[in-house]
Amino acid sequence: TQKTDMNIFEQMESEVRSYCRSFPTVFTKAKGHKMWDEEGKEYIDFFSGAGALNYGHNDPLMKEKLVDYIMSDGITHSLDMGTTQKAIFLQEFNDTILKPRDMNYKVMFPGPTGTNTVESALKLARKVTGRTDIISFTNGFHGMTIGALSVTGNSFKRKGAGIPLTNTVTMPYDNFVSEELDTLEYLERFLDDGGSGVAIPAAIILETVQGEGGINAARFEWLKKVEDICKRWDILLIVDDVQAGIGRTGTFFSFEKAGIKPDIVCLSKSISGYGIPLALTLIKPEYDIWEPGEHNGTFRGNNHAFVTATAALSYWKDDSFEKKIAKQSERIYSFLEEIVAKYPQLEGQVRGRGFMVGVCSAKEGLAESVAKEAFARGLIMETAGPNDEVFKLFPPLTITDEGLEQGFRIIEEAVESAVN
Ligand code: PMP
Repeated sequence: TQKTDMNIFEQMESEVRSYCRSFPTVFTKAKGHKMWDEEGKEYIDFFSGAGALNYGHNDPLMKEKLVDYIMSDGITHSLDMGTTQKAIFLQEFNDTILKPRDMNYKVMFPGPTGTNTVESALKLARKVTGRTDIISFTNGFHGMTIGALSVTGNSFKRKGAGIPLTNTVTMPYDNFVSEELDTLEYLERFLDDGGSGVAIPAAIILETVQGEGGINAARFEWLKKVEDICKRWDILLIVDDVQAGIGRTGTFFSFEKAGIKPDIVCLSKSISGYGIPLALTLIKPEYDIWEPGEHNGTFRGNNHAFVTATAALSYWKDDSFEKKIAKQSERIYSFLEEIVAKYPQLEGQVRGRGFMVGVCSAKEGLAESVAKEAFARGLIMETAGPNDEVFKLFPPLTITDEGLEQGFRIIEEAVESAVN
């Protein structure tokens, strides 16, 4: 087996967000919910590429389709050209995802990443409304470019821009203060009062469950109320479903059960299903006023991503996948409730929805210790929240019951070791 010198990563990576520091080994192989390092040590993956691998690693159907496509000399790169594979994906996405949900949207390819779809959404909302401000929420995360960062509610990350991030207003997210306080009453008061200094914005952007911000799940009633406010004030509603979408919270779109239809939806991460970069911006047809060339990019036509993204849609042809996720989500949630009750030293609180869950620990540094102890025992798990106070369970949606239980055993051992 190869043995890579870890120093190579120290020399080449920045300090900002090096996964080699959080997960100090060299990975070489992965399948389903498992990863292996160079020394052959096996890990259970409760991280799923930060939500980019919702179907697990190297899904057999996606792999087969991709290999066949490559062997047939299919187009790789095509910028904005029409290709057979792009047409197949668009047709399948419409037939399998949009139509059955009674969603009428145009699909735009804004560039390869989540940040690109957010940028396109912010630009389009300004172009449609002729207004400049955007309302976003505390602890929201939308990406690292200047535009996406300007709507990200994290002061440490915002500092990285090096300039003031303007034309955005951060409002308190649901439950930011307490369950009782209706944060949207405040928001509407700001809009209603010309003296508040808050201009009517072009858009409100939100995550239905905040991923990086600490697995904060907004209540469905809250989301519905945001939609109502948007309608009443002629503001566009942008839902950033980059992390919470593609089944992560139990349904394909995270907002389905809230009964809302955002004006713009941002998708990326698991949309290609295979970890190949792909992003989509869904736009209500009446707002698709882009002129040709107004938002383009070299890498927005990755046909390998279209091949795997099309294959990934096979999971959504009937409701058996959703039923599986729902059943296992209950088990994940009850396991975490048991852990929190059994280890009061955690001072823990279970958060989240579906397969997007975590435990927030009121004890400084404890969530990080749990993740570290879990890694040493062969389980990969990230922390989230402004102070890394949440350990975050993100297993692939395709995981077996046995894989889940195996992961739970490691987490319990990790918690036991971290609190003692
Ligand atoms: N929006 C959300 C909700 C995200 O979680 C992320 C990534 N963590 C992004 C946008 C940015 O996506 P990317 O890193 O692919 O640019």
